[in-house]
Amino acid sequence: MTNPAPPTMLPFIDLGAQRRRLGTAIDEAILRVVDHGAYILGPEVTEFERRLAAFCGAKHAVSCSNGTDALSLVLMAKGAREGQAVLCPSFTYTATAEAIARTGATPLFVDVLEDTFNMDPASLENAVRTARHLKLDPVGVIPVDIFGQPADYDAIAPVCEREGLWMLCDAAQSFGSTYKGRRVGTFGLATTTSFFPAKPLGCYGDGGAVTTDDDDLARTLVSLRFHGLTADRTDHERFGMTGRLDTIQAAILIEKLNIFEDELEARQRIAARYAEGLGDLAIPPHVRPDCMSSWAIYTIRVKPEQRAGLAAHLRAKGIPTGMYYPKPVHRLMAYKHFPSAGNGLPVTEKLSLDVVSLPIHPYLDEETQDRIIGEARAALA
Ligand SMILES: *Cc1c(COP(=O)(O)O)cnc(C)c1O
Repeated sequence: MTNPAPPTMLPFIDLGAQRRRLGTAIDEAILRVVDHGAYILGPEVTEFERRLAAFCGAKHAVSCSNGTDALSLVLMAKGAREGQAVLCPSFTYTATAEAIARTGATPLFVDVLEDTFNMDPASLENAVRTARHLKLDPVGVIPVDIFGQPADYDAIAPVCEREGLWMLCDAAQSFGSTYKGRRVGTFGLATTTSFFPAKPLGCYGDGGAVTTDDDDLARTLVSLRFHGLTADRTDHERFGMTGRLDTIQAAILIEKLNIFEDELEARQRIAARYAEGLGDLAIPPHVRPDCMSSWAIYTIRVKPEQRAGLAAHLRAKGIPTGMYYPKPVHRLMAYKHFPSAGNGLPVTEKLSLDVVSLPIHPYLDEETQDRIIGEARAALA
């Protein structure tokens, strides 16, 4: 998610500032693991899983190697395979569709809503019809909480119920966010997240987790992430993978979880200031009044002809921008042969031409933010 920047550039996400805030806590946590030596599934992994489940109110949290494997583990547990279709947005990071494609199932792309950038329930209904028309068996849907805001679960769930689909929530960008007052992590069959360093809750390497209230699914995931091991560890009952979270990463995440709520609050303030400072010259992200975003990425919309100029102006002033996502997944080389919902993905196509993302992280001070707003205004006016 971050691009390496020359030293005069502001960081897109300032992990150094977070590290300074945490003082020696992380160093000490890492050293404890190095000393006790339980590098794989050590006590910190169990402790982190307990804390993570409590944080979002889920019955189980199963940590794993990364956010993509988290999706894969659930898809494997559900037996996703050739001949089946799993419905997901194209306006997302590649990993969502990749996890589906790797099982042999067909990712079938669904359009998004223009205001929230999240899955459009009407397009989802179209996608179900498209799947059947293509003689594919639609089995599940992965609505993505893009940029940090939860998808409209209450609008998607009835379609799933009617069509007999499971719902797997990809909260790689939205962990910590809320939907109608409830933290993501307990909607649908399961929720996956990523601890990639640039995500709202990141570790110092790769990591991920699945949360669920389903006891059987949780047991299966624990087996799958360790080569299909049985609960008594005497046999292997299925094909799994090397899918565990390192103990060192769990120890780091425990320390970061301690300050996570405070960081989420800081992100709200920053996002509100951006919206106030830029709302008359660009379209700021729309957050539904019943949602709280975790602001993994702050994405505005400008006129397509303004976008390159804005990015170039900011870059010249030492301000990095991102583009999420210039090429929607259904236009990527490896994915362009997969089907899309019946009437196409017009909103996805449109957004890919006019979105641009500004730096956001909890340690972006007001002075720096004003500089970013000022320079963006200068470029857009
Ligand atoms: C980052 C991301 C993933 C994958 O997470 P990794 O930990 O990088 O494997 C999946 N889905 C979305 C929407 C993401 O942003």
